[in-house]
Amino acid sequence: LISREHHAARSVISVGGVPIGPDTLTVIAGPCAVESPEQTLAAARMAQAAGASLLRGGAFKPRTSPYAYQGLGEAGLRVLADVRAETGLPVVTEVIDAAGVDLVASYADMLQVGTRNMHNFALLQAVGAAGRPVLLKRGFGATVEEWLMAAEYIAQRGNLDIVLCERGIRTFETATRNTLDISAVPLAQRLSHLPVIVDPSHSGGRRELVLPLTRAALAVGADGVMIDVHPEPKRALCDGDQALVDGDIEDIATAIGVLAPLM
Ligand code: PEP
Repeated sequence: LISREHHAARSVISVGGVPIGPDTLTVIAGPCAVESPEQTLAAARMAQAAGASLLRGGAFKPRTSPYAYQGLGEAGLRVLADVRAETGLPVVTEVIDAAGVDLVASYADMLQVGTRNMHNFALLQAVGAAGRPVLLKRGFGATVEEWLMAAEYIAQRGNLDIVLCERGIRTFETATRNTLDISAVPLAQRLSHLPVIVDPSHSGGRRELVLPLTRAALAVGADGVMIDVHPEPKRALCDGDQALVDGDIEDIATAIGVLAPLM
């Protein structure tokens, strides 16, 4: 269902009226995790200044350590809905299990399936039936073929509003959190009609790599990027090292084309 053999033209997916697909460059930005109304609104304002038309933010956080911040849960979803009302930015947020799909779908404009859950077939089937567009991140240990088959699980339930997100894979390299597999972007676009975006924040895991990896994503023809921003990364409860700060916003907006280059 998601292959270009089935559907030759590349698809455009609409998220709360915002298109993702060929001929557009969609920027999704916001905090890694929703921590408070003030932090989320400040991050959403930064996201808008960077050129974002969709707000990201995790209310349910699937953390490697069970002792790490797990998110605000439904209270976080309410914060996202309030910030959407204030800014007009549709909301992309993660759902971590099949039992939570209806709740998250009642607040979100797009359901995110994270890297750790790409192989969670019950969750894929549940989001396939939820009536919302889905952002499907690549598993950090998944081949492109496995990633596309995960999308097929969603499509099989009748939902073809799927956006693929390359977010880095695990390699021997430890200087970055994961290795951005830039070749996966044009490859997935050739094999599938679905839009493909890049997450330069979670792949590198380092603020200074976000701008160059964004440029790399644009150079290979990604249909969008998803970027973490935070008003006070030193106090962030989750992944502060990769969050862009106020001083980075002009550079990223210029790279994305919202601001003209200075020369
Ligand atoms: C996220 O985008 O909040 C996230 C946890 O990403 P990933 O699943 O790619 O690690």
